[in-house]
Amino acid sequence: MEWKCLICGGEVPYEPEYCCDGKDCGCYGMPIHPPICGDECNEEWNRRSRESIMKYLKERNDNVSGI
Ligand SMILES: [Zn+2]
Ligand SMILES: [Zn+2]
Repeated sequence: MEWKCLICGGEVPYEPEYCCDGKDCGCYGMPIHPPICGDECNEEWNRRSRESIMKYLKERNDNVSGI
């Protein structure tokens, strides 16, 4: 199975490892590691996921303080 890097779209030799089917689990049936081609894209991926986590936490926080 061919996978594409989530950052640059290049082909990645990738074997997805799953935690479980996502039932009653925070993994949502997604692979433990995303398909990323190399260190550079890995850094970009980490940066993006950090940003989205921070955004999520901020929105959550805004909702809580808005009550
Ligand atoms: Zn890449
Ligand atoms: Zn799981």
